[in-house]
Amino acid sequence: MSAPLVYLDYAASTPVDKRVVALMSALSVGADTFANASSVHAAGRRAQAIVREAARQLSKCLGTAPERLVWTSGATESNNLAIAGAAHYRATRRTGGKHLITMRTEHKSVTDVFRALEGRGFDVTWLAPGPDGRLATDTLRQALRDDTQLVSLMHVNNETGVIQDIAAIGALCRDAGVLFHVDAAQSLGKLPIELEYLPVDLMSVTAHKVYGPKGIGALYIADRPGCHVEPLLFGGGQQDRLRPGTLPVPLIAGFGAAAAIAELAMEADHAHAQRLSERLWHGIRDLPGVAMTALAELTYPGILSVNIEDVEGESLLLGLEPLCVATGSACNSRDQEPSSVLRALGLDDKRAQSTIRFSFGRATTNADIDLAVQRYRDTVVKLRNLAPERVA
Ligand SMILES: *Cc1c(COP(=O)(O)O)cnc(C)c1O
Repeated sequence: MSAPLVYLDYAASTPVDKRVVALMSALSVGADTFANASSVHAAGRRAQAIVREAARQLSKCLGTAPERLVWTSGATESNNLAIAGAAHYRATRRTGGKHLITMRTEHKSVTDVFRALEGRGFDVTWLAPGPDGRLATDTLRQALRDDTQLVSLMHVNNETGVIQDIAAIGALCRDAGVLFHVDAAQSLGKLPIELEYLPVDLMSVTAHKVYGPKGIGALYIADRPGCHVEPLLFGGGQQDRLRPGTLPVPLIAGFGAAAAIAELAMEADHAHAQRLSERLWHGIRDLPGVAMTALAELTYPGILSVNIEDVEGESLLLGLEPLCVATGSACNSRDQEPSSVLRALGLDDKRAQSTIRFSFGRATTNADIDLAVQRYRDTVVKLRNLAPERVA
């Protein structure tokens, strides 16, 4: 029999909360709940009421009003709708400017949208983070131009856990009359977000990183002049034509419930993640050449990224089984290329390739962490002993 897996990859996805599963399952088959929320009959109106309740729950978690949310299939779609949608809206209807700004350390679902826009005549400035992984306000100030339309920046980095100062960056964007989009896939339900007070115009969120189902996300669109997106999809006119298609009522209800649970559990979840992160780091930090990829004070504690010298990444990952963790090429695990996010932080290729991202959640135990410590230590020692050519 194979050893039980130890799942330490909550930044990639989380298990669905049992209460959320029960709710979604009941709604999917319920005689008066499974209907199409666009139907005007009584069953349709009940489905519509379920959607409204979920919007209320999610908007409460985000500190905004339910009317400001558009349901999507996840953060990837939300990022596409926000960035491409706003870029096209502003380029065609506003001043006509085509300058956009983002960072090199963004998620692929952001960088690839900007690359596509570059191919369609938009001018993109790719900012580098400071040595701490954050975007300095001065760096952004210097990049802003008269024709800048949009700045896109993630809240919590999925590879390093680094938290960006979205309040300061947003204030700068407001002053400059530039739209500010935030990818909050890793921070929803984990860090307090009060959109009513934050200078953010567009925010992407997703359910499956906070114990909700996969395949459902949302985009927040602020009620401000000039803040609008062109739709990417065309069809039945749902959601004010911004994102048509039959609403997946059970998924939406599941997202709402997961957000409500996360809001209540936020403090306890954070403290739990903090304890686990410290336990793991204390267990491995005396190994020669080991380092945290980002400063603990600047990161969300549910993500601990560590790198180590003179250990080959691929062999390290293999040796760590049965731990489920992510490597220095994170989302693009099949690429051998070291992560561009880690390189932007100044790690050389070998360091980047040796990087392991541990990420924890509600079900992670001290025993899981202790096993992770033991596997990491054993593997590093073993690999170093196997490499006689290594210079001491
Ligand atoms: C997971 C993630 C996404 C993609 O979200 P999906 O809902 O899986 O499309 C986007 N951005 C960040 C930062 C993420 O962590």
